[in-house]
Amino acid sequence: MREIAVYGKGGIGKSTLSANLSAALALSGKRVLQVGCDPKHDSTRQLLRGKRLSTVLDYMRVTNPLEYRLSDILAEGFAGVGCVEAGGPKPGVGCAGRGIISTFELLDKFRLKEKYDITIYDVLGDVVCGGFAVPIRREYADTILIVTSGEFMALYAANNILRGIRNYDGEAKRVAGILYNRRNVTDEDGRVVRFARAVGLPICAMIPRSDAFARAERENITVMELNADHAVSHIFTQLAQRLLNGPELFEASPLTDEELEEVVLGRASFRAAIGSLPDEPLNTSSIHIQPHEAAIELSNTNRYMSKNLIRGEPLYGCAFNGAMSTAAHLRDAVILAHAPKSCTYITWQSLSSTGRRAFFERGTLLPVSLAPNLECTELSEPEIIFGGIEKLEEKLRAVMTRQPRAVVVVSACPAGIIGDDISRVESLSKPDMPVVAIKADGNMAGDYLQGMLMSYLTLARRLIRRDVPVLPNTVNIVFEKIVVSNTNENFRVISGYLARLGIRVNCRFVCETTVDALEGFCSAPLNLLAYGDYTGQLLRDFFTREYGSVFYDRAFPVGFDDTAAWLRGVAEFFGRPKDAEAIISENEKRYAAEVSALRPELAGKKLMVITYNHELDWILKTALDVGMEIVKIGILNFSQDEGFRTRLTAPLPVEENYDRDNRTGDIARYKPDILLTSYASFVSDDVPVVDTIPMCPDVGFDSGLRLAERWARLLRLNLKGGWKQDERLFKQYYA
Ligand code: SF4
Repeated sequence: MREIAVYGKGGIGKSTLSANLSAALALSGKRVLQVGCDPKHDSTRQLLRGKRLSTVLDYMRVTNPLEYRLSDILAEGFAGVGCVEAGGPKPGVGCAGRGIISTFELLDKFRLKEKYDITIYDVLGDVVCGGFAVPIRREYADTILIVTSGEFMALYAANNILRGIRNYDGEAKRVAGILYNRRNVTDEDGRVVRFARAVGLPICAMIPRSDAFARAERENITVMELNADHAVSHIFTQLAQRLLNGPELFEASPLTDEELEEVVLGRASFRAAIGSLPDEPLNTSSIHIQPHEAAIELSNTNRYMSKNLIRGEPLYGCAFNGAMSTAAHLRDAVILAHAPKSCTYITWQSLSSTGRRAFFERGTLLPVSLAPNLECTELSEPEIIFGGIEKLEEKLRAVMTRQPRAVVVVSACPAGIIGDDISRVESLSKPDMPVVAIKADGNMAGDYLQGMLMSYLTLARRLIRRDVPVLPNTVNIVFEKIVVSNTNENFRVISGYLARLGIRVNCRFVCETTVDALEGFCSAPLNLLAYGDYTGQLLRDFFTREYGSVFYDRAFPVGFDDTAAWLRGVAEFFGRPKDAEAIISENEKRYAAEVSALRPELAGKKLMVITYNHELDWILKTALDVGMEIVKIGILNFSQDEGFRTRLTAPLPVEENYDRDNRTGDIARYKPDILLTSYASFVSDDVPVVDTIPMCPDVGFDSGLRLAERWARLLRLNLKGGWKQDERLFKQYYA
């Protein structure tokens, strides 16, 4: 069984040559199969007297895989040649290369090639994606023929095909030679001969321009069928014989672009061959960029990128999931994933299962829905080949009949890979139902955090209106964490303080929010950042630049002193300083009472801290207030932040650049009652209580108190013995 791939630039005549070669091989008594691998799907037309075959890909699109039948895609042409057309998507959509892969997989399932002596693959050679290389890559073809004329671009494509073969084959020998399809251009014979010599390949056949081709084409047949005695037919017969005899095969030795120019064009430059390009630089003086457009341009490049992307570090999660999880916080919108089911399931599962676990195990309601408002286009192989925009539009229209306040469309990797432009569906927006497209494209766009950023920025740009009236005594809250357990409780605490100051929350961006709230974002005169970390800073920068938003310079406060200062600042902005003092004074009394209650249990206890954190006042102040002795504060030497910071006046035993290898020795030396670390893994029977500093602490006056209360409870439990006490802990907290 011989398998021959005929590669060539589109329009060079490879289908005509392939069909005539198949006919010649069949007339010599061989059972021949011709597989057209060009989206034009006209490879076998002349073998079938003009009949157009149903392509494999069209067939797969409309047929249940359990009902596939070979006879639906295979037709018998001239001299018994078996004819199959792979087909492909409409120009500009989908992935034709993927279509070739699917076609080959189906033909393999039918074991079709086994029924034939020779298979001819007629392959488009100027597409360089992996799909079109399948006949070479998966070693289907044992023999490769390259069709070219003397035109420079045809030779350029031929050289590219050799590069592809070289990439897959290395020095293996699979190329039989060149089929020279004459076009009668200047110096054509010279060019093709020089090229063939330079790449070390024989010209297996020279096919002249001949009226026989035109006549055969008019009758929708091959020249072999028109007249097997024609001089042109003799060329195909000889070529067939050469292939049947087992031609000598050669390795692919492509030229560099410079060598190709020199060989084909003499000393003429490549630029001259492809047409002149303007030498003048573009005059940009007439291009005026509005400041706003310029800001968007910058933000689309690298201003708003996740740290991992900037640093080129491994990506955690994917942008699709980050974008979906963030957008899911728009309670009155539907989030439509243009994605396979599996990608959407990952998001659905991570949102709902986190919520379910927190609710059932701890009774905590996370700010995520137990049943997220997600829908999915369920992209599958046919859409990946033919493009999925039509399916997206169909699904979108169905979703819109449910009258959500908005639909947010988010694309996953496969949609990005095949180039589905989801922004097109924004045109289906209705005045009261915007459609917002977030081109997250899965891992291609970046990590989970990058997806969150894309979601934040796109939702803001598409939904926030600038023409809204200012609402006095309101604030927006920006960047609450959406996957931590104390988000809602922290919001309750902060909005409680604000209510005491007569301030209402206008919009939570984006956490358990509505579309109306987003649209009215600009109504609030002040914005409060929940977290001032890297992402929080990016969002502040974004809103300041693009909306002129005013931000309070402190993030949500943690601990007594921070909360008092935070309240004073907010109250000052809204002209309510007395109200702030009243709240602080009330809390001072309550705090003092709770500290007194804890003193008998905690006074004199030794506290040792090993951490990456550089601001621990909220812990240290309470520890000192309850009379604890701070024996060591080790700031780990791989902290990303710089310099330990404190407003406390008491002397503190701080060691920066702390080497964690010293920990065991220091524990033996200081004998702490409580070891506080940033990570939960450390367990020591030498320390009565080992506790973890929360990544996202409770906000407000009581942050330190809540930790101190926990230490007192743990000390009461006398947990020395580590994991052996798990049962007691379980009974205490979950029974
Ligand atoms: S990385 Fe791509 S394929 Fe994987 S879940 Fe994300 S979008 Fe889907």
